[in-house]
Amino acid sequence: MAELNFSNLSKKFDGVPALHEINAQIASGEFVALLGPSGCGKTTLLRLTAGFEHPSSGTIHLGGDKVAGDGHFVPPEERGVGIVFQSYALWPHKSVHANVAYPLEVRRVPRPEREARVAEALALTGLSAFANRMPSQLSGGQRQRVALARCLVFDPRAVLLDEPLANLDLALRASMHEVFSLFHRRTKATMLYVTHDQGEALALADRVAVMEAGKIRQFAAPEVLYREPVDCFVAGFVGDGAVVSAGITGQTRENRLVVNVFGQEVLSRSATTEPSHVCIRPESITLCNDAPIRARVLSCTYLGGRFRLTLDAAGETLVAFASQRAAIGETLGVKLNDLWAFRDPGAAV
Ligand code: ADP
Ligand code: MG
Repeated sequence: MAELNFSNLSKKFDGVPALHEINAQIASGEFVALLGPSGCGKTTLLRLTAGFEHPSSGTIHLGGDKVAGDGHFVPPEERGVGIVFQSYALWPHKSVHANVAYPLEVRRVPRPEREARVAEALALTGLSAFANRMPSQLSGGQRQRVALARCLVFDPRAVLLDEPLANLDLALRASMHEVFSLFHRRTKATMLYVTHDQGEALALADRVAVMEAGKIRQFAAPEVLYREPVDCFVAGFVGDGAVVSAGITGQTRENRLVVNVFGQEVLSRSATTEPSHVCIRPESITLCNDAPIRARVLSCTYLGGRFRLTLDAAGETLVAFASQRAAIGETLGVKLNDLWAFRDPGAAV
């Protein structure tokens, strides 16, 4: 397995930028998710890494070797990366066994070793009993596991996955998350996993790169993205809650900021001394009747064990969890604590 390095990587299609100055280092064995809305450049970054596209400028290093940029270009078949697409791309006329063996045949791996490695890959993906089936005799989840086995069998330096679960239904997606996690723990593969689903990214990845319009906005561990977003885009795209403008009114001795939210002074953590916005997650909200911030209940959904409320506070929509049902239209008191404040001069909130 190998580390992956993007340096000032840009890609234009007919003069139109799809990726702009991407800089990121992915450690060997790390599971990284590329998260962002449709059209933000996720697939383009994957295709550049695989060698299906040439960068317009910048470089890509894989395992310390420059594979693209500065006049270098290593073709896809020599990069040693495995790729899993959302449309499984299996050979329809080959059995599961033959599909998985194919990358080893291409690499002229001798038959005894080939058989051993195919058996291992099938076992790891829970497919040993399906070796002789044809792809048409498999469910969507099983086909995606064949694609995974086929890419793992040749011991790739990195595994690239482009929305691999997009074609599966919700229940199957959840069970496939466990397959991917297990796959990653067993293989210690360097993985780059593209998704537009924030739940999937937060659940699976060691670190998540949040992308928008061809740029990486923030690249951090899931809990850092959730708790300490750098701007309004990340705060709004990752996790529940509201992003509202807030002015600073003071600072405590413990270096906590005091910010003005809905006309109230609230303590906030921050990486800046001049925040412009706060992010209000459900965990920061305590509902109590005598709290000065008043909010009207917009919706109340039972989640099993607790209720998810959406609330209108001064025109902003907050999300809170409650142990009891609330009536729509009812007014509740909202107490805010431990907010995260950040500076986003470009925000149009
Ligand atoms: P994502 O995977 O995040 O949805 P893509 O990487 O597929 O986004 O696309 C990023 C941008 O680049 C989009 O605006 C898309 O239209 C454009 N793009 C991607 N591939 C090509 C191509 N081969 N030719 C022209 N434009 C492309
Ligand atoms: Mg895509």
